[in-house]
Amino acid sequence: KLHNTVLELKGNIRVFCRVRPLSYEGSTSESVSSLPFIDPFGHEINLTNNAQSYHFAFDKVFGHEASQGDVFEEISQLIQSALDGYKVCIFAYGQSGSGKTYTMMGNVECPERKGVIPRSFEQIFETIQFLQSQGSKYKMQASMLEIYNDTIRDLLSPDNPTSLEASARVSKQYLIKHDADGNAFVTNLIVIDVCNKEQVSLLLQRASLNRSVGKTLLNEQSSRSHFIFTLKIVGVNERTQHQVEGVLNLIDLARSERLAQSGVIGDRLKETQATNKSLSVLSDVILSIRQKKDHVPFRNSKLTHLLQPYLGGDSKTLMFVNISPEATFFGESLNSLRFANQVH
Ligand code: ADP
Ligand code: MG
Repeated sequence: KLHNTVLELKGNIRVFCRVRPLSYEGSTSESVSSLPFIDPFGHEINLTNNAQSYHFAFDKVFGHEASQGDVFEEISQLIQSALDGYKVCIFAYGQSGSGKTYTMMGNVECPERKGVIPRSFEQIFETIQFLQSQGSKYKMQASMLEIYNDTIRDLLSPDNPTSLEASARVSKQYLIKHDADGNAFVTNLIVIDVCNKEQVSLLLQRASLNRSVGKTLLNEQSSRSHFIFTLKIVGVNERTQHQVEGVLNLIDLARSERLAQSGVIGDRLKETQATNKSLSVLSDVILSIRQKKDHVPFRNSKLTHLLQPYLGGDSKTLMFVNISPEATFFGESLNSLRFANQVH
């Protein structure tokens, strides 16, 4: 394994904060700004309203001017370490509209606006091409799933049930297991061998269609679900027969805002509670790992149960906390920064 002093993340959670631009393509109203102040070295952020100023420091803070390329530059070594056999997890956390999906997926049609997921697998395939020419062999497997209402949905399955009731009915077939090699897998989940970036792009397209089919409120649904892209990488050096196994988990989390629960009934209430609960379990888990507690409540949500082998221990975890710059979202931004500060 290669050691990298710049991003020595083992057992530690790094936090990168990213502030969305005030106006963006498709934004309608010009809201009043409370643009957070970012220090010149990109590690600190001040959030100020007329009453008070709050100060936070993270491993990196990206202002609204940071491009997708600027962001990726800071994580490309981390992505690379999955090829050296590390387990890597990258999350995007934040309220709806703060730029989680832009950060993780971006606009795949436009090269400059591609996000972390497409840039990651492109870099991985490029590197592998080189390494294979040097006599190593690689095998890659991709899977994509969504956790909605604490229920796993296979986004690569052709007969993915679109109604909540149907997913509840089949949810039993998706069981989370951990194997002897310390990996997680989901029973019956489709895992596809991939050998080039075009294949992965097609799978991502299929996944995004599967997320939306039959949904009148696509944004409603996707903002309440966690999207997990997993790439398993097995490399064998032909000469020495030395084998490394790395995993890359790239996760677009459900929105972080706590919705008022009064007036919400039935399924909607259940969904809201499930979304809120899985995010608070995630923070409990990260905190317990950080505090080296004996008991870490991984099993309290599907999200953390599935990611158990990839959090803590030998793995490398990075969390983006995405925030909106508008003054109207001051409270939510403050909550997100506090959350990130806690896991940091
Ligand atoms: P979320 O996934 O957190 O709900 P999105 O990623 O969908 O938020 O972002 C909301 C809108 O803001 C989208 O139209 C997106 O393209 C735009 N946006 C977010 N971050 C940026 C950014 N850094 N630069 C340009 N546009 C952005
Ligand atoms: Mg989104």
